[in-house]
Amino acid sequence: MARNILVTGGATGIGRAVAQHFAEQGEDVTITGRRRAPLERTAQETGVRAVVCDHTDPAALTCLLAELPARIDVLVNNAGGNTDFDADDGTDLASYARRFKANLDANLLTAALTTTAVEDRLAAGGAVVHIGSIAADQGSGAYGAAKAGLAAWNAGLADALGPRDITANVVSPGYIADTEFFRDKLRAERREWLVAATAVGRAGRPRDVAGAVAFLASPAARHVTGQVLNVNGGAYKSR
Ligand code: NDP
Repeated sequence: MARNILVTGGATGIGRAVAQHFAEQGEDVTITGRRRAPLERTAQETGVRAVVCDHTDPAALTCLLAELPARIDVLVNNAGGNTDFDADDGTDLASYARRFKANLDANLLTAALTTTAVEDRLAAGGAVVHIGSIAADQGSGAYGAAKAGLAAWNAGLADALGPRDITANVVSPGYIADTEFFRDKLRAERREWLVAATAVGRAGRPRDVAGAVAFLASPAARHVTGQVLNVNGGAYKSR
């Protein structure tokens, strides 16, 4: 039987690769995002279902529930990004507070709200996978703090969902090319530095992340929960 899978922010980049992977396995996939045009394009090209939703907005999430199946097997909390790329550059404290909260909303609140909204529908044998970031270990201001908070929040989630036979994990990517993450703001020197920092000498690809998500959502990973799985080509080494 096909599994019902929700991939937030699934129209572009990593989310799109995750959605496409599951769709190719014959799963029933729903993607979300705020912009209708990329959602419709990805839905047409990959055969997934698309619903417009801003995952920072509780009312929008309540509306989304009406569009989702009664049983959800896999939730992939992928929506997010470093909101500083789109932010004002005001130097006063109020601007700093706005920018900080925007990153918490985009990367931490989105995942917590979405998981809470669909929690009753998560099926036994299912999985929740959040997309974190290497920034949780290496910095990047409020963005890194939000992704670190996501991993901390996931630890409690794993305890809460474990008795229902549902796993909860974080996939933490390093630099992944071919997404909209950096907007047009990644300078060539910075890109070279990010690639040089890896052990494998290349940028990550969205499908590298999709492979890790697929594993955590597979029968092979039923005893893996409350963990962070790094996918960064060795740019950050854990032990
Ligand atoms: P993209 O910008 O291509 O993808 C992010 C997606 O999330 C977009 O489709 C966007 O669509 C959606 N999104 C953002 N905010 C919201 C929201 N509030 N509600 C609904 N959808 C939202 O970049 P990536 O694919 O690279 O990013 C995916 C995830 O991977 C993010 O969480 C990012 O932080 C993380 N990541 C990326 C890395 C990289 O190097 N690329 C490295 C480490 C982590 P829309 O704007 O239409 O809402």
